[in-house]
Amino acid sequence: MPKQIAVSGIQASGNIHIGNYIGAIKQFIELQEKYKLYAFIADLHAITVPQDPQKLREQTISVAALFLACGLDPEKTTLFIQSHIPAHVELGWILNTLTPIGELERMAQFKEKSDKQGVLAGLLNYPTLMAADILLYKPDAVPVGEDQTQHVELARTLARKFNTRFGETFKEPKALIQKEGARIMGLDDPTKKMSKSASSANNYISMLDSAEEIRRKVKIAVTDSGSEIKYDPQNKPGISNLLVLMSQMSDTPVKTLEEKYANKSYGEFKTEAGKLLAEKLTPIQKRYNELIKNPKEILEIMERGSKDAEKIASQTLKDVKQKIGLI
Ligand code: ATP
Ligand code: MG
Repeated sequence: MPKQIAVSGIQASGNIHIGNYIGAIKQFIELQEKYKLYAFIADLHAITVPQDPQKLREQTISVAALFLACGLDPEKTTLFIQSHIPAHVELGWILNTLTPIGELERMAQFKEKSDKQGVLAGLLNYPTLMAADILLYKPDAVPVGEDQTQHVELARTLARKFNTRFGETFKEPKALIQKEGARIMGLDDPTKKMSKSASSANNYISMLDSAEEIRRKVKIAVTDSGSEIKYDPQNKPGISNLLVLMSQMSDTPVKTLEEKYANKSYGEFKTEAGKLLAEKLTPIQKRYNELIKNPKEILEIMERGSKDAEKIASQTLKDVKQKIGLI
């Protein structure tokens, strides 16, 4: 039986943070053993908010290097840069013509980001491009963090709509969301998710933050009233978030951590948490620092991936164009 297919991307919108790692990349690493995985760097999504061109180039290479440093293996997984495959934009446009504006306007992420940036058409249309990113590869699964559930749902709706109107073409993939760690919260505001594009760097632990920086950020992370180290996301969102981070990065159940820190103060717990997170990121950072010395090699790996992805993407697009009557 052919392998099942999975597709997912990470935006080149800033430094990858530990939420991206736990919610998405950790799943990629596991999935690449069983699935045919396509993992891409979403540079076209990144520009839905203003980006400095030089920074965007650096961030794109940096995300690619982190993919490799975290354990994505180009022998198993097809790694590529979104903008290298024009079929994404072409199918994105076609899917726009099937998408009511109202559906895009009610997307939670659009509402959040448009508040901050003013309403750009690209930001509104982001989910149709994302639907194209997914549907081109006819995947069975889309491994993402919880914040992307709504967007994957739109991709499924569009697949159904297209198939009904033009004949069986797309597969309806399911979103793969971790039971725990699918929504890591911001350190400076544990009621909102951790985000690359957060206005303060104290919001996130970047995968590339120094050990000292990580310890500092955890130390000043917003915590809750009371003094008990207990998982209770409703009443103790700050402490619960730190417990989840520690649990996910050390493969230790939250329960075990609660017991371990039962008699400790917030201060002691945060010191331990900062130490552990810094320790766990060190080996990834070491690999990253080696890889990033050679950006040309990283780009070559991405280009090899593009060739592989392009074959399927262009085939799907050709079929779509024919079905809708483009000649
Ligand atoms: P931006 O703020 O620019 O949107 P982001 O931090 O949301 O950046 P994305 O590149 O949009 O990161 O998302 C990449 C993947 O990481 C997606 O699968 C997304 O669901 C997941 N993800 C993003 N933030 C979190 C988080 N806080 N916790 C768990 N998963 C997350
Ligand atoms: Mg995002």
